[in-house]
Amino acid sequence: MSSKITGQALVAGVCGQPIVHSMSPLLHNAWLAEAGIDGAYVPMGPALDRFEAFVNGFRGGVIRGLNVTIPFKERALACADEASDLARLAGAANLLRFREDGTIFADNTDGPGLLGAIGVQAPDFDVTAAPVVILGAGGAARGAAAALLLAGAPAVRIVNRTVSKAQAIADALGDKVTAAGEDALPALLADAGLVINATSLGLGGGEGPPADLTLTPQGCVVMDMVYKPLRTEFLQRAQAAGRPTVDGLEMLLLQAVPSFEAFYGQAPPTGVDVRAVALAHLGEGLK
Ligand code: NDP
Repeated sequence: MSSKITGQALVAGVCGQPIVHSMSPLLHNAWLAEAGIDGAYVPMGPALDRFEAFVNGFRGGVIRGLNVTIPFKERALACADEASDLARLAGAANLLRFREDGTIFADNTDGPGLLGAIGVQAPDFDVTAAPVVILGAGGAARGAAAALLLAGAPAVRIVNRTVSKAQAIADALGDKVTAAGEDALPALLADAGLVINATSLGLGGGEGPPADLTLTPQGCVVMDMVYKPLRTEFLQRAQAAGRPTVDGLEMLLLQAVPSFEAFYGQAPPTGVDVRAVALAHLGEGLK
């Protein structure tokens, strides 16, 4: 929270259920304080059955916008009057902007966060060069598939325990996206340029998905969306196989950047190391 909050303060927030674990208030308020912006960013946990009433109430112009997290991203998109191509393709919004005319614009910054994280931690990666394998078929997987498609991936293969959920994403996103079960993984990994864990496996320290990463070509980038712990078991296996890795925390940090710009009208200040702030919060120390 900025130290300067006046009657003209710019207010934004994040909503989800539960919301108590969200790191977004920590990040945005660190940026606000560093930039000396007259503003605030607050957590909100609307009741599950009253999300639409909660969002529509802000058409009155009370706040600049909202980030949206689990389980409301799909319903957030449905509340909007207009949406970006990426939000429509992803079928979900994590950013709602409340415009002065009372309308709502929906966007999805998870995709840019994912691509940005790969750009930072695996700068030699060329999205157009080889197929992508996404493990998992939840909202995160669909958002990743949409962003990678728009960025020029030649093929996106969704692999999931429940194949029907992977198939539903493939059906929504078109011919370049295919669905498969876990038994197809060895063949699908053999020519992959990027493998992403978009399952919840590994969250909290358990084992990641059982994909044999030694089957991937040398240079195949391995990313884990899970960021707690930072060095997941999946990323440790990728490292042991000599593959470049990208962690989920970088994605989390970079998805917040376009939201901050939308809410407060300027880029986040560079003088605060939000990765260090986040790592301290996660109890990971500086890595
Ligand atoms: P969902 O709950 O929508 O999807 C979970 C996925 O994990 C499903 O595909 C599910 O398979 C699979 N899964 C769960 N348990 C198992 C298991 N035992 N064996 C095999 N597959 C399993 O979650 P989201 O898509 O919203 O999020 C996925 C992960 O991505 C989470 O860990 C989340 O924290 C992370 N995330 C990180 C972000 C970041 O910025 N770094 C942003 C968004 C998400 P099935 O369909 O068969 O049940």
